[in-house]
Amino acid sequence: MTVPNVKLNNGTSIPQLGFGVWQVSDDGAHDAVAEALRVGYRSVDTAKVYENEAGTGRAIAESGLARDEVFLTTKLWNSDQGFDETLRAFDASLERLGTDYVDLYLIHWPVLEYDRYVDTFKAFQQIRDSGRAKAIGVSNFTVEALRRVIDETGETPAINQIELHPGLPQDELRAFHAEHGIATEAWSPLGQGESLTDAAVVEVAAAHGVTPAQAILRWHLQLGNVVIPKSVTPARIAENFDVFGFTLSDDEVARISALPGKRIGPDPATFNLR
Ligand code: NAD
Repeated sequence: MTVPNVKLNNGTSIPQLGFGVWQVSDDGAHDAVAEALRVGYRSVDTAKVYENEAGTGRAIAESGLARDEVFLTTKLWNSDQGFDETLRAFDASLERLGTDYVDLYLIHWPVLEYDRYVDTFKAFQQIRDSGRAKAIGVSNFTVEALRRVIDETGETPAINQIELHPGLPQDELRAFHAEHGIATEAWSPLGQGESLTDAAVVEVAAAHGVTPAQAILRWHLQLGNVVIPKSVTPARIAENFDVFGFTLSDDEVARISALPGKRIGPDPATFNLR
């Protein structure tokens, strides 16, 4: 199965379908990532705060794949923001991952009240220029925070990884991203499992003889989102990767987009945890 690539604004590319490891122990992440790579995933999303960078890195190293065959993302935690702090935190992440570069480094949250994300992104530029992160981006950034980074650093982040699932299609941010050449990456793409029982999702899935998870992932892919579903169950890891053999109609995409829903995670406008 060939996963399409999404081209980033710095010329590198990310597989449109990857694998997330939030809320998985270090050993659990090792096993889940090993299984995902065996099934065919070639992109893995971790973060310092997940406390499983080591297990994730170990699974990649042991996979038998060349390092450049796997797209690896990690994220800077909020308490590490600031120019010098970021440089130190990045070194520590690389150490835990057991690699000498990541494909994508993300600022996990803007933490608007702390007001350090612009300096943090400047440190990201230095890291990228050193070759140790191939691309740099952000996560949970609002339009206002994106505008400030662009205006004050002269660089547009490659990706904004945001909460996005049926019921939270993020039309405003997706339009801003499209206008500025920022790739949209969806976190909690299955609504942490909550979206799987939505009536429209269940009906669309049945019409194609696929599972609700597969219908939702297909919806993301057709919207152009990069998507990183998580599971530790081998059958589900395989199921979530098997989403390239059918296509939703425009009407089916619109039905899923129109679902009433809500945010599951914190609102980035007010999330100031450090
Ligand atoms: P998700 O939407 O991927 O849902 C995962 C849950 O859905 C699983 O725990 C399981 O319960 C269920 N599930 C998965 N596949 C299924 C299937 N085929 N059938 C039935 N149930 C299934 O949720 P997530 O883990 O929150 O998000 C995915 C990834 O996004 C994370 O692992 C992480 O890498 C990333 N993420 C990033 C942020 C951020 O702030 N940047 C926040 C949350 C998550």
